[in-house]
Amino acid sequence: MEKTLSIVKPDGVKKKVIGEVIRRFEQNGLRIAAMKMLKIAKDEAKGFYIVHKERPFYESLTHFMSEGPIVVMVIEGENVIHRVRELMGATNPKDAAPGTIRADFGSDIEHNIVHGSDSKESASFEIPYFFPYIEIH
Ligand code: UDP
Ligand code: MG
Repeated sequence: MEKTLSIVKPDGVKKKVIGEVIRRFEQNGLRIAAMKMLKIAKDEAKGFYIVHKERPFYESLTHFMSEGPIVVMVIEGENVIHRVRELMGATNPKDAAPGTIRADFGSDIEHNIVHGSDSKESASFEIPYFFPYIEIH
């Protein structure tokens, strides 16, 4: 069964929407296979977002991702990578479809509440970045 990595970002934790994000995943038939809260260091955020290292937002994004606790989870389901991305909505909350997590709770293109792997290749890098095999159920 396909798996993806999702993160409730520091802004989502501050806005108290951890439960709402999880509820949307579960209500859409997806299964939480692993979950924990942690605060990552700037270098750990930089490693996670290494694909974006040349982008102008890399510094700001990795600062933001390390400024408060996050909730990381592995979600499992059929076509889960695509389905989580659909529930999240577009990167910029202004462009996100009504009823998506980012449209409902995001503030701006950086502070957009939630992360989800964008491909099988990304998921297979991102899941073990946070979870050893024995923590995925
Ligand atoms: N981001 C940003 N400015 C941008 C594009 C992205 O601050 O112009 C941030 C935003 O938090 C986004 C993350 O960087 O979620 C990763 O960007 P990506 O293009 O991978 O978007 P996503 O896959 O999260 O929709
Ligand atoms: Mg992405």
